[in-house]
Amino acid sequence: MRKKRNLLNRLDDGPVICAEGFLFEIEKRGYMASGEFVPMVSLDHPEVLENLHKEFQHAGSDIVQAFTYNGHREKMKVIGKEELLEPLNRSALQIAKKVAENNDDGEPNLMAGNISNSNIWKQGDKNSQLEVEKMFNEMVGWAVDEGADMLIGETFYYAEEAYMALKVMKQTKLPSVITIAPYGQNIMRDNISIVDTCKELEQQGGDVVGMNCHRGPNTMMPYLKEIRKILKCHMAGLPINFRTTEKSPTFFNLPDHNGCTHHTPHTTTFPTALDPMQCNRYEIKHFAEEAYAIGINYLGVCCGANPMLIREVAEAVGLKVPASKYRENMENHYMYGKNKRIPEHIKAYGDKA
Ligand SMILES: [Zn+2]
Repeated sequence: MRKKRNLLNRLDDGPVICAEGFLFEIEKRGYMASGEFVPMVSLDHPEVLENLHKEFQHAGSDIVQAFTYNGHREKMKVIGKEELLEPLNRSALQIAKKVAENNDDGEPNLMAGNISNSNIWKQGDKNSQLEVEKMFNEMVGWAVDEGADMLIGETFYYAEEAYMALKVMKQTKLPSVITIAPYGQNIMRDNISIVDTCKELEQQGGDVVGMNCHRGPNTMMPYLKEIRKILKCHMAGLPINFRTTEKSPTFFNLPDHNGCTHHTPHTTTFPTALDPMQCNRYEIKHFAEEAYAIGINYLGVCCGANPMLIREVAEAVGLKVPASKYRENMENHYMYGKNKRIPEHIKAYGDKA
């Protein structure tokens, strides 16, 4: 068996890439209801999930994150399928493990168990907090059982819920990544600042602390820079692939000023009509370069991610990945290429095409 470094060894050696954003990508592929967002795919179409993991692996993801986002007890109660909770989690973990262990391109990947925002956490309410703790405990237990190499707690918008997630993850002694996703008021919902939340997560022993989801590069980077100045631990940055702005710092209230002719039946462009506000690959590349330059080693893309963008992130930090074989090559384009065989009259028409 090939040698496999743990997460912290890898981060000490250089960049580590992690693909997130499974919810949006699986929905786009037609295997999940938007809005409801339950990852039934691990039971209903395991081959689809396995293949998406493989595509991200091909694009350079070092981590295969089990798709258990929203696969928690509360959500399963909402859809009346609580009895499928454990099978769903175990299936997602087993699929991730299988892909992680079978990396044709070299060192096996790391399989990550995943917990995230419960959406029932309530500030000052011990009952809801206890329930969340139980949800985290059972999911982390299944992850350890299925051979997770590390754990990821992500998309927390309550600081104290993130602290709880970290506490539960740390009990396992596995390396733990903890990332927060503050909403548009630029503060955690329990009124703790973004920077203070990250400071506390480092204090409480987070191996990797940072931000994921909700914010695109434009509105995540300023906070990452601030946090990086203060934290000594490894840091994570995984933005969404959308052009958020100072006025609309998250994708929840992002307006479409791109000549939209058919609005969504609900009030927001989120989550079904965000397409025109996507970042292009060069914007994502720029984000990754900038983040890496200030010392953020754990990088990826959250909602809106696709394998091509993960390749951009990997290449931005100097990695060559299997998918690099197919990176853009405009040289041979039939009209804009410079290849000798391309006829002059075709080349000359480019600006009128
Ligand atoms: Zn996301």
